[in-house]
Amino acid sequence: MACNHGHSKPGTSSVPAYPKLNYSGGAKWIKHLTKDRLATFEGGHFSNVNLSSVMYHHRIDDSHHVKLQAWTAPNRTKPSFAEAMKQEFVPVGKGATFGPSCTNVWFKVTINLPAEWQKYERVQFEFDPDCEAMIFTTAGEPLQGITGGWGGDRRVEFILPPEARKKGTFDFVIESSCNGMFGISGIGPPDNNRYFSLRSADLVVPNLDAWALFWDFTTLRELVDTLPGNTPLQNLALTTANAIMNVFQNDDPSTIPAARQLAWKVFGEAWDGKAEKIYEEGVERPLVWGIGHCHIDTAWLWPYRVTQQKVARSWSTQVDLMERYPEHRFTCSQAQQYKWLEQLYPPLFERVKAKVLEGKFHPVGGSWVENDANMPSGEALVRQFVFGQRYFESRFGFRCDTAWLPDSFGLTGALPQLIRQAGMKYFFTQKLSWNNINVFPHSTFNWVGIDGTQVLCHMTPVDTYTAQATVGDVNKGITNHKNLESNDTALLVFGNGDGGGGPLAKMLENLRRIRATTNAHRELPPVSMGSSVEDFFDDITKTTEAGKTLPNWHGELYLEFHRGTYTSHGSIKKGNRKSEILLRDVELVGTLASLYKLHRKDYEYPKETIDTAWEKVLLNQFHDVLPGSAIGMVYDDAEELYSEVRKDLNLALEDAFKVLFPESTTLDAAVSLKPALAPALVGFNTTFFPRREVVKVPLVGGAANLKNKLVQVSKDGASGYALMEGADGASLVRPTGMFADCAPVSVYTNGTDHFVLRNASVQLTLNKGRITSLYDVQLARELIPEGHSGGLVIFEDRPNNWDAWDVEIHHLEKGKHLEFGNVGIVAEGPLRATVETEVKYGQSTIKVSISLDAVPATLKHHSRPLFVFDATVDWHQRHEFLKFELPLNIHNDNATYETQFGFVQRPTHKNTTMDMAKFEVCGHKYADLSEYGYGVAILSESKYGYSCQGNVLNISLLRAATSPDEEQDQGTHQFSWAVMPHIGHFLESDVPQAAYLFNAPIHSRYVQDERVESALATMRPPFGVSGAHNVFLETVKRGDDDDKHTTTVILRLYEAFGGHARAKLHIAKHFGVKQAYLTNLLEEHITEFNLTKADAMAETTFPLEFHGFEVKTVKLVLESSLRDAAAERPRQGKHDSWVDVTYEAKSFD
Ligand SMILES: [Zn+2]
Repeated sequence: MACNHGHSKPGTSSVPAYPKLNYSGGAKWIKHLTKDRLATFEGGHFSNVNLSSVMYHHRIDDSHHVKLQAWTAPNRTKPSFAEAMKQEFVPVGKGATFGPSCTNVWFKVTINLPAEWQKYERVQFEFDPDCEAMIFTTAGEPLQGITGGWGGDRRVEFILPPEARKKGTFDFVIESSCNGMFGISGIGPPDNNRYFSLRSADLVVPNLDAWALFWDFTTLRELVDTLPGNTPLQNLALTTANAIMNVFQNDDPSTIPAARQLAWKVFGEAWDGKAEKIYEEGVERPLVWGIGHCHIDTAWLWPYRVTQQKVARSWSTQVDLMERYPEHRFTCSQAQQYKWLEQLYPPLFERVKAKVLEGKFHPVGGSWVENDANMPSGEALVRQFVFGQRYFESRFGFRCDTAWLPDSFGLTGALPQLIRQAGMKYFFTQKLSWNNINVFPHSTFNWVGIDGTQVLCHMTPVDTYTAQATVGDVNKGITNHKNLESNDTALLVFGNGDGGGGPLAKMLENLRRIRATTNAHRELPPVSMGSSVEDFFDDITKTTEAGKTLPNWHGELYLEFHRGTYTSHGSIKKGNRKSEILLRDVELVGTLASLYKLHRKDYEYPKETIDTAWEKVLLNQFHDVLPGSAIGMVYDDAEELYSEVRKDLNLALEDAFKVLFPESTTLDAAVSLKPALAPALVGFNTTFFPRREVVKVPLVGGAANLKNKLVQVSKDGASGYALMEGADGASLVRPTGMFADCAPVSVYTNGTDHFVLRNASVQLTLNKGRITSLYDVQLARELIPEGHSGGLVIFEDRPNNWDAWDVEIHHLEKGKHLEFGNVGIVAEGPLRATVETEVKYGQSTIKVSISLDAVPATLKHHSRPLFVFDATVDWHQRHEFLKFELPLNIHNDNATYETQFGFVQRPTHKNTTMDMAKFEVCGHKYADLSEYGYGVAILSESKYGYSCQGNVLNISLLRAATSPDEEQDQGTHQFSWAVMPHIGHFLESDVPQAAYLFNAPIHSRYVQDERVESALATMRPPFGVSGAHNVFLETVKRGDDDDKHTTTVILRLYEAFGGHARAKLHIAKHFGVKQAYLTNLLEEHITEFNLTKADAMAETTFPLEFHGFEVKTVKLVLESSLRDAAAERPRQGKHDSWVDVTYEAKSFD
């Protein structure tokens, strides 16, 4: 039996004898002094004798060994490799300066190595132009990126290929770009005249042992600095690092391996021989999962063309790094960046593709760009995913599983549903850690969208998507984790973003040492490498009973920061909204033209034009472009893209209209034609709502004889107003006379400062420049509280930081009312009454016309007319914020704002800090304040910022930051908004329909000869929804995979009020519907519908059931040709919804 009493036999004991006498001074240390000593081991005052003095065996830069020639591309152009190589290069040397900002400089480099360098394992070329650069082979293949300068992101070494080392000479090419990682001047306005100097062009032989010791020491120091001071590991790391300093001698190379071996005490014996195998030892289940990443802002402090270079530099660097670190996995989002690489750097794209197929380079996100997630329309978000997933699938054969928006400034509650319908179930984000009021309470949670759909969301506790892979980062993955009770893993997304090129070798080295440490110690969470983001989420799914044990977060992920981005750069907001609407119209009209081919048999759906336009619009939705937080140069490019979109789509639209309406033009084009004898005026309604609307018609040129179609003509006779009317279902609208149920408008003035616009249902009073009364005539209800007034208001707008991004809560404390002046009447009814006003403020002039029409906003029973405000602003303020406000005699704790495919309600009070934080919010086409019985909405056609403080509803109109764009929003702006009183609470109202109509005007067309009828006039509307007025038909387009033999139509519908609905979809009989499917956003079949057809002459119908805010996509497979449309039977307008909140649209059947 073994002795278990702690005794051992004499002579076998490993316990040293404990001396009896002790005359020494003792070994007690002063810990903080030892800790401080570590800082002297490299760099600094002792760099000529400490570790830094031995990092390189050799360094040479003379012109015999390094021959440099340069050519500077003129005028900031970006020539291709081939173009650059044709130019005249001149000799240059270190210290030469290049510029100005954004100039591209090309270098031809020839190196000659000393013969004795052959013996070294590694020789590097160290190139530091103080800015960004890319190394190419002489054949033009990109090899790796360079990040110059002295920041922590510095990456200036190019490891020469072994063949070059053996041969002794090597030629290559460098493209250097005169911009830093964060543009030219950081987040300040760019200095367009910055010059950069060539700091290094040296051949060096690194002392690889010294570098390894440097990394050992770095990890030890991080352990010392990160871990609590009373833990054994922290003390061990400190004594080990101190011992290394005692052993190291700069004049004795043999001390380096000895010093390295000391580090085994912390990292484990012979750990360094295990290289990437270190991750196969120790714990079975890692807690922190490392994944390399490079967050490249698609444009921000630099334009798109510079991003294309950043992508190539960063990704080539990562492909190269993977060769030396087999455990390294790299993930990158944004299909657009892959497409640029494919177009501009084809050989590099092939290398990236090989790594993708090898499973080391992971496409993620499934979207076109990392878009802003507040302002794009629902359909635009759909297309972000569709264009992204289709691209990834077409190039790599698979789609992404994880949506990825780490940096977007708030995330709409519409996203979970769209993510799931785009074939993904996981979502990674991060930006909410920047909240400037409340700490977001979760790290890993089920994010439940407005319709109840969930995605598994991880918001990394490391609080960054550009982690440096330090001990502190790994530790924070657990110490800052907010849901350890239900999940104990964190994603470590590391690597330098933007121009930094992703992970550095030192990060991968550090992670190996950290893992080695945790294989022997338990004071740090173990980190793993080699997995994908999907693996990480799969693990959470497995360990949380498929999310059941996780907390939920319902609705939007509101970012309590960057609230100015809903308004900054008015032009980009307008470009976005108008392009989205135009795309919708072109897809619809193009689809109809391609199906009917009425007046041109060879017409084809303009898919390429539409796709190209979508790609441009999706690109501009990038999370620093659409928010208005980029430099001015970015907006020059973005506006150019919008103008191309407008031009191309208008041509496509005109082309499609010509197929539907023979011999017709737009009203604008008619002005330059000769007057026709009997012209006709027709319109096309691209919405699926019936409408009755006032349209302004020019009475000159070809259109001069349209006078008899108009109800009201201007005083000068140059223009007039027609009343246009049409049924629902995307169809013709025609001029009509005043109806008995129209309420003619009038305008009254006292001749000086009192104006009243009114009709039989509503009335607005402008008194001394302010709106002092908004009155519902029929209900005798005053909507503006006694003593208050509405109108323009201006606030001092000086955020604490982040000028273009932020509007801070204190702006509300310093505002003043502006008064409408110079009021004059320009139209007096009966169809439209308009007053024109002018406000002079500072250096700015704000012209606003206010109009009231005789017809209500929609054809819903008791719908009230809109008061439309059309503004032209010559804006020259700085750091001031223009809004329009309306105090209302309405009380509710919540106001309602449109969001993608639905709405979101936000508090009007400041009960909690979470409520307070929402003092400026994003909305789309409407914002509404309602109580039981009545409400008022503000509609917008190009603005996204709103707020409701108590009973005061606001729309944000213009800001004027000066950083990073000095000239943000200076100049002329044109935009409109409308005030819409309505009977009933928002949920009983027609606000969403009215806002839709306000954004999608009738396409009025001039027809030379009224006897030329469009065949469309006699046909039934092609598609329609009945039975549930809360279901909107949003999109009609041709199928993405249609070809000559396949004719499909995609219909996207959604429930807009947040409740269940049973609708019926109608497809006109003249389309032979072969099959109909419910699909996901990617147009893949989910189920097939049973089609109901009473007889061969009847239309096709089938029921569609919705839950609140549900989005549904229907694919119709059609026969290749139209059936005889003449024998059609009118549609039965039967309502069979589960809930019918009396929507009494006038029946046109
Ligand atoms: Zn970003």
